[in-house]
Amino acid sequence: EAAPYVPALVVGTGYGAAVTALRLGAAGIRTTMIEMGQLWNTPGKDGKVFCSTLKPDRRSMWFSSRTKAPLDTFLWLDVVNRDLGRPYAGVLDRIDFPNMGVYVGRGVGGGSLVNGGMAPTPQRAYFEKMLPTVDADAMYKRYFPLARRMLGVNTIDPRYLEQTPVYKYARVSRRHAHQAGFRTSVVPNVYDFNYLRREENKQAPRSALAGEVIYGNNHGKQSLDKTYLADALGTGNVTIRTLTRVTTIRQQGKGYLVGLEQIDVWGKVVRRSEISCGSLFLGAGSIGTTELLLRARETGTLPDLPTAIGNGWGTNGNVMTARANHLWDPTGSLQSTIPTLAIDNWNDPKHPAFAEIAPLPVGLETWASLYLAITVNPERGRFTYNHTTDRADLHWSASQSTPSLRSAQALFDKINNAIGTTYRRDLFAGNRAFAADFCYHPLGGALLGKATDNYGRVRNHPGLYVTDSSLIPGSLGVNPFVTITALAERNIAHVLATDLKRR
Ligand code: FAD
Repeated sequence: EAAPYVPALVVGTGYGAAVTALRLGAAGIRTTMIEMGQLWNTPGKDGKVFCSTLKPDRRSMWFSSRTKAPLDTFLWLDVVNRDLGRPYAGVLDRIDFPNMGVYVGRGVGGGSLVNGGMAPTPQRAYFEKMLPTVDADAMYKRYFPLARRMLGVNTIDPRYLEQTPVYKYARVSRRHAHQAGFRTSVVPNVYDFNYLRREENKQAPRSALAGEVIYGNNHGKQSLDKTYLADALGTGNVTIRTLTRVTTIRQQGKGYLVGLEQIDVWGKVVRRSEISCGSLFLGAGSIGTTELLLRARETGTLPDLPTAIGNGWGTNGNVMTARANHLWDPTGSLQSTIPTLAIDNWNDPKHPAFAEIAPLPVGLETWASLYLAITVNPERGRFTYNHTTDRADLHWSASQSTPSLRSAQALFDKINNAIGTTYRRDLFAGNRAFAADFCYHPLGGALLGKATDNYGRVRNHPGLYVTDSSLIPGSLGVNPFVTITALAERNIAHVLATDLKRR
């Protein structure tokens, strides 16, 4: 029996995938998206689709018997993580490699389901440095504005920011940064700040004020299922298959034959099948896309894939840290999970850092200031294919995180000196003040201009494209999804105009 055929197949439903599917569908091309996670639209027994960080249940994690929150403990107590019972197809995954845990979203919308919604655009000079072959004029005049509009990016009303108790934590950290001589900036977001105001006034159900974020937001956040993916389905040409993982890719005529594995919510494989396509767009995220290409090259189904695949991976310099405030500097017991301010020390010649001021929304006063810093880290990791496990292995040594740690420490040592405060050592295992052994911003693995041409076409493989964060070489200087979206817009516009004129 021949495998069913679809003109265009898109792997994943994150940013790169969603942009690509919308533009294909709008151009009249029948497109199927394959997503290994669930469609998150059905409330559980509590009436909610997603669980909160304060009361996590099986919906929180992708096939894990325990939550794996970024903080290990609170006041050194094992109160952060919970047992979950039978492993389930939850929304947040943490892929653990030696020395590096990588967080990713699972479900229709990919990372947009679990992320903090921060939507900054990179500094143009740094963008040009990281992606020198991309026409920056076209990006900054056309594709960044398009991405921000499509994603529903908005900025907090400054008067609200100054008076609301839910951003006291942000104002305290901002004051400390200013006292140490640093600049801060307001960071745009895809969480609707008008909704936040209404939930604060008890006019709408709480989400950002109910500890919801990394295991999903039930309200307020413009995740991809509400923006690009809704529009893609609206074209009438796009369909999404969920709980289905792409496993293999091989050449078939002028197109590709793709192996699929469908599971139930408990992880049992219920069906194996194949689908063939004319064009194949990989949007499975930095790790997902890189793994698919490495497996195809190393198992010989696409033996001529470029040697550059697997190279150029980075953490966007992610480091998390926390400071212990004085008793007269409370940060507030009701905190919005959606960050809105950052310390911008990006132009520091020695220790560039862009540190978002993060909440610690535990529902009681903590006197803690938490941060996720994005630093310059020139180190790059590399993936290889492991024949025994059939997975990609990441090679990242602990010492490769040192440049990130140094830059973050330079910034926060200055703040602690100016304020007379210290680090919190109760949050990360081993009494550490800093954690650079996990990341939220995996970037690279199939770099633009190296593994692909300048528009994401995989070298020597007509009809095979990379659309996601794996194109970006390890670092952007700011949170990445606006850039991933804008780059995908740019690439698919070119591909549609040159490769996919309607047949
Ligand atoms: P993803 O969004 O990762 O989507 C890939 C999709 O493909 C997933 O749905 C996955 O399940 C699916 N998939 C993978 N492999 C397969 C396969 N073999 N078959 C089928 N499906 C597959 N970025 C920001 O800009 N701002 C933030 O505030 C921010 N906060 C974050 C907070 C957290 C907790 C996390 C985890 C990330 C955060 N990020 C943030 C990062 C951002 O979400 C990612 O950079 C972005 O989602 C990557 O987009 P992508 O298109 O590369 O792939």
